[in-house]
Amino acid sequence: MKKILVMGGAGYIGSHAVKHFVQEGYDCVVADNLVYGHREAVPQGVAFEKADLADPSSLEAVFGKYDFEAVLHFAAYAYVGESVTDPQKYYQNNVAGTLNLLAAMKKHGVHKIVFSSTCATYGEPQYTPIDEKHPQNPINPYGRTKLMIEQAFGDYARAYGLQYAALRYFNAAGAAADGSIGESHNPETHLIPLVLQAIDGRRPCIKVFGTDYPTPDGTCLRDYIHVEDLASAHRLALEKLDTFSGYVNLGTGVKTSVKDIIAAAENVTGKKCPVENAPRRAGDPAELYAAAHGPAETVLGWKPRYMQIEDIIATAWKWELNRRY
Ligand code: UDP
Repeated sequence: MKKILVMGGAGYIGSHAVKHFVQEGYDCVVADNLVYGHREAVPQGVAFEKADLADPSSLEAVFGKYDFEAVLHFAAYAYVGESVTDPQKYYQNNVAGTLNLLAAMKKHGVHKIVFSSTCATYGEPQYTPIDEKHPQNPINPYGRTKLMIEQAFGDYARAYGLQYAALRYFNAAGAAADGSIGESHNPETHLIPLVLQAIDGRRPCIKVFGTDYPTPDGTCLRDYIHVEDLASAHRLALEKLDTFSGYVNLGTGVKTSVKDIIAAAENVTGKKCPVENAPRRAGDPAELYAAAHGPAETVLGWKPRYMQIEDIIATAWKWELNRRY
């Protein structure tokens, strides 16, 4: 059986994808530089190679060792704030590094890639819900690096026959239902783990960034999508690549406010969350949510299994109580 290379497979979303693909009978090889990834997140028995997008010789070693059918590419830096203060790091890794990966694929005759893109490629929404035709005007370097690669895919497809799916995630959340793997960022900046850690007394409180947005409760609305649902979308996208290349939003279409998250986390845990109101965070649009029933459903045949925010938070809570890394 040919193998799937999971670049960045020790990271948050990549590790859940590896778990899913292995369960579905795929033979995965994980490559990761372990800068943000966790070796413990890779299941026992899955081949692991330390490789870095910035080092073409490390990619060459991996592509020379195995015969790959396709690549899942999760290896990106993804801190929006850091992308503003240190854009070089983002352009080098997310753009130049991905071009190194595409070069290795081309050299070794690997034509299929499923790529982690983001709703951050849309920038400040001109309308909601956001569909794939929404104009793309990213407002930070992180979003721009992802958009540049999306554009390169179109050119590589026309010139070299690349088959690609760029999956534009909304807010990835939750953890494996069995509690084996989960989210572990350092520093952690995402709302759900921060709320749960505040509830658990590991942080003094959660700061709500802005309570004066033009939304029903004054706090930002987002579309939280369970990480295992993201994983299944990658598999469906990969299995469709012979007939479909393109760009697909991955969200539930459900709008959830910051206050909704706090209330749901209190319900799930049965504990109060200490809350402090804080100023808006720069670059946060009031609302970001996907149009339901888009190409993810109509083309890939995907349906998110987690539609209730409590169910998503329950998996994150299980992980927070028993995290291994
Ligand atoms: N947020 C917040 N306090 C925090 C972290 C996040 O109020 O400590 C808000 C943030 O303003 C946004 C939402 O929670 O409206 C989700 O933020 P997160 O960083 O999790 O994801 P993003 O939407 O930035 O990708």
